Amino acid sequence: MNHVVELRSDTFTLPTPRMLRAAAEARLGDDVYGEDPTVTELEELSAKLLGKEAACLMPSGTMANLAALLTHSPRGGKAIVGAESDIYVYEAGGAAVLGGVVYEPIPTAADGTLPLDAVVEACEVDADDPQFALPSVLSIETPQNRRGGIPLPPAYLAEAAAVARAQGIALHLDGARIFNAALALGVPAADLAAHADTVQFCLSKGLSAPIGSMLAGDARSIATARRIRKMLGGGMRQAGMIAACGIIALNEMVDRLADDHAHAARLAAGLAELPGLRLDPEPPRTNMVFFSVDRDATAHTTASLIDAAHARGVRMAELGRDRIRAVTHSGVTAGDVDRAVTVLAEVLSSAPAAGR
Ligand SMILES: *Cc1c(COP(=O)(O)O)cnc(C)c1O
Repeated sequence: MNHVVELRSDTFTLPTPRMLRAAAEARLGDDVYGEDPTVTELEELSAKLLGKEAACLMPSGTMANLAALLTHSPRGGKAIVGAESDIYVYEAGGAAVLGGVVYEPIPTAADGTLPLDAVVEACEVDADDPQFALPSVLSIETPQNRRGGIPLPPAYLAEAAAVARAQGIALHLDGARIFNAALALGVPAADLAAHADTVQFCLSKGLSAPIGSMLAGDARSIATARRIRKMLGGGMRQAGMIAACGIIALNEMVDRLADDHAHAARLAAGLAELPGLRLDPEPPRTNMVFFSVDRDATAHTTASLIDAAHARGVRMAELGRDRIRAVTHSGVTAGDVDRAVTVLAEVLSSAPAAGR
């Protein structure tokens, strides 16, 4: 029996043997006292890689984004977010529920950007009129997951930063996969981070660490975020065990993301040959392949295709209405990609199970 080809998400990556060894051997202390040397090392490394003054280890990307929004926004302030952003769709409304922050969602354009005229419009409220929530932060996401894993163009980041500055609000970048974006664009991650006041990225996705995200920014914002992290229950004691994996992730797992992008391209090329599937975007820009089922060309539905592939050992996710997402990562080889293409070809040439 072959192993399962896990394409639902790069969050399924497992820590490497070197990470496990580093965790076991890490120098530890109480990080709530600021005395875990391994956490401090990871925070300094992260800040340096992103060209920021400081960084703070967070248990998850969700908490990093939440801490950032609460750092930049008072209760009753307004966070301008993308309607298709992870923050708005997948993070349980944390800033509203826990922080009293009002979300103003702006439709995310097909290229992953938030149209800046709409951002300006959301900002242009009369500060002397008591009926309006006052804007405090703009959050943008790169790569934009629900728009196909598209990296936002650096020129757009610069324009968004200029708009935020002109409007007197902060810019937060949800860069969960910022190293994938940087790779796709051929620029250092720090060049992307430079435009934002705070940046979040995940250690626990393509970088293959088991736990953790980093929030980076200026020293003052990160000090505030550190206090908020404690308030949210994210102050961790001997977190060096996690941080040791994160250090390996940054030192050893960034360059190999190129393999994931090559595998995504290989997968997309294979799927493009199959009748009944429509890729979008084509070619993929990062480690995500998105496609939909062409109902004119096959009797399969999104659900029947996912189920039948699952039964044959290839797992994919429905993400957004009638869109299928397949994500490559360190646990997926070129051979796995070829097997996924073969399995989908088999599935498409057989009838869907009754009722799906
Ligand atoms: C995964 C992800 C997050 C949240 O990270 P968790 O560690 O899963 O909480 C935030 N933003 C984006 C764009 C993501 O892909």
